[in-house]
Amino acid sequence: MEGWKFYMPTRIRFGWGRFQEIREAVDELKGTRIFLVTGRSFARNYGVLDRLSGYLKGLTLVTFGETEENPSIMTVDRGAARCRDNQCDLVVGLGGGSALDAGKAIAMLQKNPGSIQEYLDQERTCQTKGLPFIAIPTTSGTGSEVTPFTVITHKAKKAKPAIAPPQNFPDVALVDPELTLSMPLRVAAFTGLDALCQAIEGFWSTQGNPLTRGLAFRAIQLAMENLEKACLKKDKESVANMALASHLTGIEMSNIGNTAIHPLSYPVTLDYGVPHGFACALFLPPVIRFNAGVIRQGFTDLLTLLKIPDVETFADRIDSMMKALGAPRRLSEVGVKTEDIGAIVKRGVGRSTAWNPRPMTEEDLIQICKAIL
Ligand code: NAD
Repeated sequence: MEGWKFYMPTRIRFGWGRFQEIREAVDELKGTRIFLVTGRSFARNYGVLDRLSGYLKGLTLVTFGETEENPSIMTVDRGAARCRDNQCDLVVGLGGGSALDAGKAIAMLQKNPGSIQEYLDQERTCQTKGLPFIAIPTTSGTGSEVTPFTVITHKAKKAKPAIAPPQNFPDVALVDPELTLSMPLRVAAFTGLDALCQAIEGFWSTQGNPLTRGLAFRAIQLAMENLEKACLKKDKESVANMALASHLTGIEMSNIGNTAIHPLSYPVTLDYGVPHGFACALFLPPVIRFNAGVIRQGFTDLLTLLKIPDVETFADRIDSMMKALGAPRRLSEVGVKTEDIGAIVKRGVGRSTAWNPRPMTEEDLIQICKAIL
């Protein structure tokens, strides 16, 4: 057996109702002036902010509720300046992947100089750990609470680059599935489909090892068995299982990244405004079909467990699930035209494209896009 390594410095607290443990986590990290990075409205609207203020009574809480979906350089730099001005000593990210990634970047910039743009442009590298950072996800999709990935939208470059210094792993991941209950169907659907994509990409990645494959295997099973129920019925068990699926994909992905689907999704999000998870899921069935010949054997046990006869039926099953969840299934549905495909593919080739189990050329990607136009 080949050797492998694995790194996970984040302390994890997972379970229904564990949000109330935030004070313990803050005290462990000796935080007294807390900088909260969150989205524009959801935490306020659903009473989450009030609950947090209650738990942190006696400490200073500065709220930065300005994180947009796919956070920009400007937002991160503005948040970093606000955090510095308020002399905060701990950052909490509360929200979906967008708020968590913005929080990671803001925490990092408290101890590393300059704008986040310089790091994204690779003019600077993170030299030292930022402020302590607690990540509290409120979507079940990205697993960002246990990854060092900090994905920030670079508008000038029309790109979504990521940095992943090991110092950016959150200190604590506090995962309380109850916080995801308020997700509207559409948000639950696109975030859950993101988790499924990550799990499948993690399972077939050429970078995988026995631990990441084990995590990805379980995450695929959980997502396939619970995603529809969690979105449509919102029962406690399936909602908690989706939080777990997302979390497991974050742990495996933190060590091996993604494969071809994630980079291909970025131009679709940036140019056509398609939410991240839907943009990823669009490519999932056709890429499964493209990979079918080389993944068949590796997927046998998983598909037997899921009572799915073969890889092609697996792709069909995901396509039906996307339909049931109201996800777009054709590129033309989101505004892509035949003549746009070349540009999407050019920008949609990333480092991780090479980690797809079947080697892919640009021409292969063009054919994949055409198959779902
Ligand atoms: P998101 O964070 O953009 O949130 C989507 C919307 O849902 C927002 O409007 C948000 O306010 C709202 N929302 C969040 N939680 C809610 C709740 N409980 N109830 C009601 N509304 C809620 O979506 P996301 O898919 O979680 O994150 C996507 C971002 O994460 C992208 O930028 C993507 O590139 C990034 N990402 C990061 C990693 C990583 O490891 N760092 C991994 C995958 C994706």
